Amino acid sequence: MIQTVLGPCSPNDLGVTLMHEHLLIGWPGWDSDTAAPPFQRREAVKMCVDRMHELKSLGLRTFLDPCPIDLARDAEFMAEVAQATGVHIICATGLYKEDQGAAPYFKFRGQFTDAVSEMTETFVKELTEGIGGSGIKAGILKVATQAHRISPYEESVLRAAARAAKATGARITTHTDEGTMGREQLDIFAAEGVDLKHVIVGHSCGSADLRYHVDMLDRGCMLGFDRFGLEILQPDRLRKAALIGLLGIGFEQQIVLSHDSVWCWRGRPLPVPTSMVPNWNPTHVFKNIVPALREAGVPQAKIDAMLIDNPRRFFSA
Ligand SMILES: [Zn+2]
Repeated sequence: MIQTVLGPCSPNDLGVTLMHEHLLIGWPGWDSDTAAPPFQRREAVKMCVDRMHELKSLGLRTFLDPCPIDLARDAEFMAEVAQATGVHIICATGLYKEDQGAAPYFKFRGQFTDAVSEMTETFVKELTEGIGGSGIKAGILKVATQAHRISPYEESVLRAAARAAKATGARITTHTDEGTMGREQLDIFAAEGVDLKHVIVGHSCGSADLRYHVDMLDRGCMLGFDRFGLEILQPDRLRKAALIGLLGIGFEQQIVLSHDSVWCWRGRPLPVPTSMVPNWNPTHVFKNIVPALREAGVPQAKIDAMLIDNPRRFFSA
């Protein structure tokens, strides 16, 4: 069974799934911006509910929000949206990368204690007992690395997640930057004894280097082509070209699709100009990417594999 924010669910009931989207993000330090207008929680829930209904009309049944603990993860907010829409929402435990996460706490403790053990304990508790006093259990582990290097702090988070995964059977999903360090993430998980088919290397579409992709796929993991629409980081043309190539050589059982969209921000509203990212919204895969794949000759069965079968396989295999 998979833990959703409203309780356990069978992998067979997941249906069409977006494996990497965010209802709500707050960069660490958002709560220092005390002049920001107060968070309009009810309006934010309503906006998320409306968007989720639109996604539901396009076939969506399940939504994985891999917000790590330190980016203002709010499992109760997710539960309200799940309750109001009937869409399964899965939340995460885990910590973000060093340069943009809340690393100081465990880095400081690490001078005096075994911080990896403490992180492991935190992750296991959130997976098995629940988050705070909410009773809501995390359904996946989320970790992250920066571009071109893994810092010692990030390595300790990855090791803690690996140990929590082994202790609980939970799956791991990751963040990578600029299509780098996925192979090194897998090296750390493998060294800790994690079955790599229980790992999604996220944002792998940040690279169009098929050698990078095939190296990882040959080790059995899944890859997230999960930033469609984020054209300022990598053009969709390159994401599509790499995806179509990998599907053409038979890797449709190891790829999941998503957008990494962010629906609400803590702190001040963030004026991201839509002209910079016109397609960065969670319907883009359904409205534009799937038709483009069909036009390129990708059979429907391979599209269904990425959107339906792989999320089920990932959580049940
Ligand atoms: Zn993300």
